[in-house]
Amino acid sequence: MAEVRTKLPGPKSKEYLDILAQYEPNCTTQQAPLVWDRAEGVRVWDIDGNEYIDLTSGVLVTNVGHSHPKHVAAIREQAGRLLNCYDFATPQRAEFARRLVEMMPENLDNCFLLTTGSEATEAAMRVSKRYSGRHEIISFYGGFHGRTYGAMSMAGKMGTKKKFGPLMPGCIYAPYPYCFRCPFKLKKEDCGLFCLEFLDRVVEASSTGDLAAVIIEPYQGGAGFIFPPEGYLKGLEEWARKHEVLFILDEVQSSFGRTGKMFAFEWDNLRPNLLCLGKGIGSGIPSAALMAESRIMDSLGPGEMSSTTGGNPLSCAAGLAVLDIMEEERLPENALKVGSYMLERFKELEREIEILGEARGRGLVMGLEFVKDKETLEPAPEITWEFILRCCQAGVIVGRVGLYGSVIRIAPPLVITKEQAGKAIDIIAGVLRSF
Ligand code: PMP
Repeated sequence: MAEVRTKLPGPKSKEYLDILAQYEPNCTTQQAPLVWDRAEGVRVWDIDGNEYIDLTSGVLVTNVGHSHPKHVAAIREQAGRLLNCYDFATPQRAEFARRLVEMMPENLDNCFLLTTGSEATEAAMRVSKRYSGRHEIISFYGGFHGRTYGAMSMAGKMGTKKKFGPLMPGCIYAPYPYCFRCPFKLKKEDCGLFCLEFLDRVVEASSTGDLAAVIIEPYQGGAGFIFPPEGYLKGLEEWARKHEVLFILDEVQSSFGRTGKMFAFEWDNLRPNLLCLGKGIGSGIPSAALMAESRIMDSLGPGEMSSTTGGNPLSCAAGLAVLDIMEEERLPENALKVGSYMLERFKELEREIEILGEARGRGLVMGLEFVKDKETLEPAPEITWEFILRCCQAGVIVGRVGLYGSVIRIAPPLVITKEQAGKAIDIIAGVLRSF
């Protein structure tokens, strides 16, 4: 496994990369120079015949593994039967909606099927405004909720919204508990969750008294896999209830087994009023959902927020297969087991390697944050790109995230075995030692 024979990019890959550079430039994020041909489980082959271990899941999407036979069979069968019928009912849509709702806490008794994560966060914000009759939304420094206008406006970092202003009115930003780089320079052991306390100050300074909702990721993905300290999310939920503000949890990337539970809200027993799902829900087939309380959804008239491809039969059939596979193969448990093993090994490397400032994560989502110096914690973004290239050349595909571009994304398909994970980490360790 993981055999890269050609110097990247291989000759065939280069051909297609050049075409894309000419005809679709600047439309994708920067990736290692290979052209994917096929994949199976956690194994990927490029068109030059090189084999890799995928530690990205195509940005936390292919949770059931690439081309899982049961997933593929469901998609094939549905493609030959019915692909689209817009808003007409289908058995697949009805069954998918029912099964999603049945997995939720009792209050989330409705669902709205969509196609992308941005649509789900956008819909959550819009319905919050309609239901509450108010317009302000609180989001967090470093937060990411998608690229559409409202979602982009709620981004807590400039990279997502640079020169795309003016933004949606009513955006309020609060500090996220990035404990490795605490904005208040406090220590999480004895800070008393000061950032939560500070939320009242933020509101006092920035709100006109028209708060509709607060939206947060259970861990921040794009900002660098930042996990809040214990008690923070529950505390925020309680804050929202106390202030009669809707609590929106953006689980577009943290759901469907990724953190070692089916949904990240299970870790803290959270009860959001609205829950955004995406990515892993279709495991490669575009699909998303907004889970909501019916009292909130009832503020909409029929079809007011409908979407052309939302709930299409293909996505629903794929989604049903994903749910079956997750259950049958106990993928959340595997994520927890293999994820714990991986994090333990990364923690050992953190102690050994000078440029590895922190290894963190939960289940099969981990971040390796590079620093120039472990004392000053100065970010080292120039290392990440070279690290990605060297890993890829050695047969492991990883990605890059982070507020400063200094975090390596480790998020393999949830079917990864301990042996495969061990092999990938051996390769990564070799690359780390080469700096
Ligand atoms: N919310 C979060 C937390 C995400 O990570 C993403 C995608 N990275 C989105 C929303 C947007 O999803 P999509 O790209 O499918 O629109």
